Amino acid sequence: MRNRRAALAAIASAASLALTLTACGQNSEGGSEEKKGGADGATIGVAMPTKSSERWISDGANVVKELKSKGYETKLVYGEDDPDQQVSQIENMITQGVDALIVAAIDNKSLDNVLQQAKDADIPVISYDRLILGTENVDYYASFDNEKVGELQGTYIVDKLGLEDGKKGPFSIELFAGSNDDNNTKYFFQGAMNVLKPYVDKGELVVRSKQTALNQVTTLRWDGGTAQRRMDDLLTSSYRSTRVDAVLSPYDGISIGILSALKSDGYGSKAKPMPVVTGQDAEVASVKSIITGEQTQTVYKDLRQLAKVASNMVDAVLKDKKPEVNDTKSYDNGAKVVPAFLLQPVSVDKDNYKETLVDGGYYTADDLK
Ligand code: BGC
Repeated sequence: MRNRRAALAAIASAASLALTLTACGQNSEGGSEEKKGGADGATIGVAMPTKSSERWISDGANVVKELKSKGYETKLVYGEDDPDQQVSQIENMITQGVDALIVAAIDNKSLDNVLQQAKDADIPVISYDRLILGTENVDYYASFDNEKVGELQGTYIVDKLGLEDGKKGPFSIELFAGSNDDNNTKYFFQGAMNVLKPYVDKGELVVRSKQTALNQVTTLRWDGGTAQRRMDDLLTSSYRSTRVDAVLSPYDGISIGILSALKSDGYGSKAKPMPVVTGQDAEVASVKSIITGEQTQTVYKDLRQLAKVASNMVDAVLKDKKPEVNDTKSYDNGAKVVPAFLLQPVSVDKDNYKETLVDGGYYTADDLK
């Protein structure tokens, strides 16, 4: 729009414009200098990982809404969890001449080349939710306090089992982590283990499978079916004669897979109650599951706020202003410490979902019926 308007204006006053541009040291193509002067009409490319999870659908919609409200045009693409597809989508957007990129990476280490192309075309890049690794060509990072997410999950398990109140168990627990190509995975796991490990060391929590290292418990692409199969195997191999009391799950889609395996094994009855099962994202299916007493907890991250933060970053960068950040230390991507704005996650269970999610306007009561 802005380009077209600029073109019309150029035709209307070609002579004086040429003079002005020359005086400003620009060529008559106008180009990025002009677009950077104001939001209106610049186009932002938004690359999201997958539509198979509700959260990323909301992210895409929220980011587009925020950018549009600031006068930007948008191109929104989803990579269907295929890293190569995401790379070519970003390449296309660069070729189409977007003015900035917001990227939630599928594989955090696969974007070097394409982000070099962005750099060469003077296109700033905001890393969205997941930190892009190994490249200088990422300008800012918008996310949540990822370690805190894990801490909330770990703390919930400890509280729910009564370990803090002096119960000694021993309780059985199994651990699940996210995708090994997502930088967030290690932060979530680390946060949870900071809380859980002291109890494992004391023998009050027992991981019967003995699978406690991150590389033993990851779930490629956060896939619920993969988690379900692993939980099936764990129940068969380690829980024939005792029950599992808690499962650390990093994400609602994984929790749903774990719950399916548990249900197939007879959990969820009076005689064999569900273990404590955590989650993340407060997806509708999981909040409903919490309401009906299957999943126990999730971590809510207000995606409306994240979209605001990322859009504000783009807006500031394109206007040659400094975006607001609140963390300049934690997120070293291997090539540089990426300045970040981190939002706060909130633990949600049956007791506070109404107050947090419904009164907070994130869902309506009807969404959760
Ligand atoms: C996000 C989580 C999400 C997970 C799976 C992570 O990078 O931070 O919110 O649950 O990906 O999509």
